[in-house]
Amino acid sequence: MSIEKYKIVEGQVKVTYELALGRTWSHFYDCFKEGKIMGTRCRKCSRVLVPPRSFCPRCFEDMDEWVEVSDEGIIETWVYVNMPFFAQETKIPFISAQIRLDGCDSGFTHIVGGVDMSDLDKVRAAVKLGGRVKAVWSREKKGSIRDIEYFEPVK
Ligand SMILES: [Zn+2]
Repeated sequence: MSIEKYKIVEGQVKVTYELALGRTWSHFYDCFKEGKIMGTRCRKCSRVLVPPRSFCPRCFEDMDEWVEVSDEGIIETWVYVNMPFFAQETKIPFISAQIRLDGCDSGFTHIVGGVDMSDLDKVRAAVKLGGRVKAVWSREKKGSIRDIEYFEPVK
């Protein structure tokens, strides 16, 4: 039987789930309630990673030393998202960026906001590789990634 003979039913599946964050990510988000971004430091290679890891992915050493990092850093890479995709919660268009916070050695992915999104040239003028950004914290913090509304360019 050829594939053309099968009937197809189209639909959408919505999956509601709960994800256990574990000790490391739970502490990371608990600190968001106090407006602090914490990373973990590897005792062997001294790298500080944000988001934190329970072990160093390079050395495989436990990373149980917590270090507060800045809520300001530089844009390592960014993308302008103007196409909807499945399960996307953020309204388009938006900017997703990898941000290296001061005091850490890894990238942290978040939204860049506070930028005129009406024209891509205006976005390019405001959002640059190596450009400095600072977290804009929510007034009500619940211990989640949304406690940081977005990172905005530092003027
Ligand atoms: Zn290491």
